[in-house]
Amino acid sequence: MIIVKNATELQKVKRACELAAKALKLTGERICAGMSTRELDRIIREFIVKNGGKPSSLGYRGFKGSACISVNEELIHGIPSKKKILKDGDIVSVDIAANLDGWHGDNAYTFKVGKVSEKAERLLQITEECLYEGIKAALPGNRIGDISNAVQTYCENKGFYIVKKYIGHGIGRDFHEDPDVPNFGKAGKGPRLVPGMTICIEPMINSTTEEVKLLSDNWTVVEANGNLSAHFEHTIAITEGLPVILTKLN
Ligand code: MG
Repeated sequence: MIIVKNATELQKVKRACELAAKALKLTGERICAGMSTRELDRIIREFIVKNGGKPSSLGYRGFKGSACISVNEELIHGIPSKKKILKDGDIVSVDIAANLDGWHGDNAYTFKVGKVSEKAERLLQITEECLYEGIKAALPGNRIGDISNAVQTYCENKGFYIVKKYIGHGIGRDFHEDPDVPNFGKAGKGPRLVPGMTICIEPMINSTTEEVKLLSDNWTVVEANGNLSAHFEHTIAITEGLPVILTKLN
């Protein structure tokens, strides 16, 4: 069931989103070569907790991290680890969701560590552009499929691969709510968008195949050919007019 939020509830989602966005901004300021993903995770957790929130991912289905931190061919759900040391040229997808007063906000960004390859630059650029193509389609009266189709069409026209096994979602009191928000599909299909819906649009894009593999830790999802992958996400609210990006800081 899709839960449409009233003005008061939207404010609560917005506050959680701002906390998640600030944590992601801090991540961008602190990430560097030589740091372990566990250290980055600690910085994120401490920031969220200090600001009165809880990391939504910590303990979620047993996940041992305050963020998902996925390096290079890792697409999503990377488990922070002391053994995983970032190095120059890595791309690092960091997915942060925060729970503030019982409401959730969720965002992700793929960061560059030092100077990255041209291939990586292009993958990051296109994945982020896909996110904004999806957001542009999030208009009242449109359907979820219009978002999905906008993301897929842009991605495929640029020669990259949409991962279909994992998708975006609604968000609110629950970290994952209806509706599903796939990054692929037909325009004009799926639930209709109405003002007050809060959804996470999160293109997950691979360099050389749409296939992914699950590592033996049962969490980390990697590009099946071992090539680079990227993930960008915003939480948005559908309004009477243009969508509002709740995880965008002013
Ligand atoms: Mg999400």
